[in-house]
Amino acid sequence: MDASIMDGRDLSAGAVSAVRCIANPTKLARLVMEKKFAADMGIPEIPVEKLITERSKKHLEKEKLEKGAHKADCPKNSGTVGAVALDCKGNLAYATSTGGIVNKMVGRVGDSPCIGAGGYADNNVGAVSTTGHGESILKVNLARLALFHVEQGKTVDAAAELALNYMKSKLKGLGGLILVSKTGDWVAKWTSATMPWAAVKNGKLQAGIDLCDTKTMDLH
Ligand code: ASP
Repeated sequence: MDASIMDGRDLSAGAVSAVRCIANPTKLARLVMEKKFAADMGIPEIPVEKLITERSKKHLEKEKLEKGAHKADCPKNSGTVGAVALDCKGNLAYATSTGGIVNKMVGRVGDSPCIGAGGYADNNVGAVSTTGHGESILKVNLARLALFHVEQGKTVDAAAELALNYMKSKLKGLGGLILVSKTGDWVAKWTSATMPWAAVKNGKLQAGIDLCDTKTMDLH
């Protein structure tokens, strides 16, 4: 698994890659950020089998058969999980972790633990977490690219679209991202087939998977 995390207050960041038997790699990335290490901190380990579901085994076999790792798009259902947050004090943060089905197939470290690619957070601009074809995400620095467009005055929607379209037109790379700006505007956007997402703002929960399929719920 790969994971990274970033604190938008001071741009401190932590990342881990190719770790095994860690129940929550994002917590480990946070400990790296805070300069403490897993064993010293008593991070619980679990047997590797517990992290591999029957479903993901079948998926891996299927992807191997289809040689999906070499296609410049993104595997469905990668196991990547991302979060971005803006708190009431104006602090921004992101975290991204992945079970990395492609990592298992080709033995590589992906974009998720790379700051600027798998995510980025800066209190002056916003926070982004990304998913999709890691090789493309790394080359265009997708998270930082989206925030660059926000810095240039684009809306969060336009910034996400510009960044994802650049990756698609330049590299045929598909993916998705969630972005929250320092003003609390947010977007979930993707060029891949689907991207399950959810957002909470002012007591209102919104969630979706497919395009044009957003559900809204009042949390009060
Ligand atoms: N970006 C991940 C990787 O390439 C996979 C994904 O998010 O779909 O490792």
